[in-house]
Amino acid sequence: MSHPALSVVIPVYNESLNIQPLYERLSAVVRSLQLTHEFIFINDGSRDNTLELVRQLAAAHPEVKYIDLSRNFGHQIAVSAGIDAARGDAVVIIDADLQDPPELIGEMYAKMKEGYEVVYAKRRRRKGESFMKLLTARVFYRILAAITTISIPVDTGDFRIIDKKVVEALRQMPETNKFLRGQISWIGYRQTYIEYDRAERHAGKTGYTYRKMLRFALDGITAFSNFPIKVVTIVGFIVSFVAFLFACISLYIRYFTNLPVERGWTSIIIAILFLGGVQLVSIGILGEYISRINTDTKRRPLYFIRESNIGTK
Ligand code: UDP
Ligand code: MG
Repeated sequence: MSHPALSVVIPVYNESLNIQPLYERLSAVVRSLQLTHEFIFINDGSRDNTLELVRQLAAAHPEVKYIDLSRNFGHQIAVSAGIDAARGDAVVIIDADLQDPPELIGEMYAKMKEGYEVVYAKRRRRKGESFMKLLTARVFYRILAAITTISIPVDTGDFRIIDKKVVEALRQMPETNKFLRGQISWIGYRQTYIEYDRAERHAGKTGYTYRKMLRFALDGITAFSNFPIKVVTIVGFIVSFVAFLFACISLYIRYFTNLPVERGWTSIIIAILFLGGVQLVSIGILGEYISRINTDTKRRPLYFIRESNIGTK
């Protein structure tokens, strides 16, 4: 089985309770589709016995491959490692926690056969997520859509099927701070979607903390938009203009009126604090871009593999 029809890429981070049910549901789906397939589990530095369970699964089923990363590199890098290893004519990216129903793969695959290179799954509803997660996700996707030049679909995660042409394109995109759903939109080809209601996590808890989500959001924005930098420039011009007006007014008061100026303390404090704030925020925005340039210029490998059964059978 050198070239399976379908590779399924599954990043796993502390998913011990989900491995077996996921495997069963995935197997049932690909069996009903009658496709040659491989399942690639990428263990992203789990602290529970996820790796052990994946190894057992691989020992029992020849179509199960696994990659054990050297530490926790994060969801996007784990998926990238799976994409690098995938040899299928089509590749499905799916979460391990059964929030992305494997049963949709049939519909996605059928849609792809109509002549699309990417079929992503758009969330109509999301069950069992906190109000904050729903709100931040909703706001983020809309901001992103508004400020990027490419159209990144709203309310869409990485659950999708992609053709091997897209896989090949992704392998040529070496950036460290991955935002795969943006990269895939950027790549182009024919893309379409199906809609679904996102389920609750089957078991375990989310690996995405608010900190990781914020970083991920900033990765998406900085990778696909220079709008924040333009905002800095525009705000700079506006503030300079206002400052110029104030300078004129101050000079006028000083030289052409007899108004007392001892009461100027408040305005000076406000001006200093306001300008200080604007400057620090602006530097911070530039810093977000520069720190990503810094990471990319080091050209470090994206991940290291501690152990894998790929290439051994
Ligand atoms: N994941 C990962 N590395 C991480 C965090 C998560 O590989 O550092 C995996 C996780 O096992 C799951 C997928 O990425 O298969 C999505 O993560 P999660 O369900 O925690 O995110 P959420 O659905 O809450 O956004
Ligand atoms: Mg999840």
